[in-house]
Amino acid sequence: MDFERIKSLDEQYIMPTYARYDVALLRGSGSVVWDVDDKQYIDFGSGIGVNSLGYCESGWIEAITKQAQLLQHSSNIYYTLPQLRVAQRLCRSAGMDKVLFCNSGAEANECAIKLARKYSFDKYGKGRYEIITLYNSFHGRTITTLSATGQDVFHNYFFPFTEGFVYAKANDLEDLKAKLSDKTCGVFIELIQGEGGVVPLDKDYVKALEDVCRQKDILLIIDEVQTGIGRTGSLFAFQQYGVKPDIVTSAKGLGGGLPIGACLCAEKLAETLNAGTHGTTYGGNPIACAGAEYVLSVVDNEQFLKSVSQKGEYIKSKISKFDGVKEVRGLGLMIGIVLKANSKEVSQKCLENGLLTLTAKDNLRLLPPLNITYEEIDKGLSILEAALKQMT
Ligand SMILES: *Cc1c(COP(=O)(O)O)cnc(C)c1O
Repeated sequence: MDFERIKSLDEQYIMPTYARYDVALLRGSGSVVWDVDDKQYIDFGSGIGVNSLGYCESGWIEAITKQAQLLQHSSNIYYTLPQLRVAQRLCRSAGMDKVLFCNSGAEANECAIKLARKYSFDKYGKGRYEIITLYNSFHGRTITTLSATGQDVFHNYFFPFTEGFVYAKANDLEDLKAKLSDKTCGVFIELIQGEGGVVPLDKDYVKALEDVCRQKDILLIIDEVQTGIGRTGSLFAFQQYGVKPDIVTSAKGLGGGLPIGACLCAEKLAETLNAGTHGTTYGGNPIACAGAEYVLSVVDNEQFLKSVSQKGEYIKSKISKFDGVKEVRGLGLMIGIVLKANSKEVSQKCLENGLLTLTAKDNLRLLPPLNITYEEIDKGLSILEAALKQMT
């Protein structure tokens, strides 16, 4: 099928919610992907941080194929083995106590919100339900996670939104303290605001925020949907911030390309969501969990995580010398680039020249596969450098 036909079918049958690039992808291998016209691209986006081991990694294919041949699904009214193995590994490596599996980032965050509210309800009774989130955050697209998202552009059309979210300025402890009240049950943050433009929070701020939460039994909830699973050079970013969250959410990179989300909690929340209070049909699907188990077997490894940090430093130091670059920031292989030129135009130019990139707000964003090779990095960077030269 040629591209024009694909585009017209998409226009005819798919709800127009995505501003798609004019590319239809067909197949991939490692950090390289081909479109329907057999044009090749280096992929600096991994979907959006999802294909953590690139396209069609052989061990990952083997793991999910084996599981598909064994048992593809069962209801959560029965026990299955892959989710136990992923749960055990996640809890041990993250220092958390229990997991609830779901299918996406928004669902993981929805679970975190229910968990925080019920913990507070059980312990303090009605009325202590408010959750403070940060301006410029992104937590998902369900009605409640849109409410949690601290950006006015997301608070349109779908009224009424879920009540009980209060927004504070990032990196401003005084503003956070001013927003706390007797109603507050949780503070919900991304450590690096991804969709918000790759904006890292200050370590001192996060530490101080943790102290404030501890004093008042307010839950510290960290959205690691984008930053987790090795993306920043540690299994979870909170491990580099030196804090201990009460709740952590994960999704994007966890399944290596299969849909899975996870909400992890500390011991004091272990019995909060009891029988009948939460659940989902597909949560902990055996094939998705087999994918996650394989991803963790590769990523949850000191050497591997170190290599992610090193590649990140390498990319940042190269890009900082390119024309038209105002600032490069981020951790590990989560990189934001503030440009003089329009980032959408630069991204489009890169695409034409065989490099997939992402944007976030006005910035260029790179989330390459965690196992990308230096050769693929160099190839991609030379395309980016050339695009920037043309644009400035
Ligand atoms: C992508 C993202 C989400 C939403 O995840 P979905 O799987 O799209 O529902 C939530 N939080 C953060 C930080 C994200 O990057």
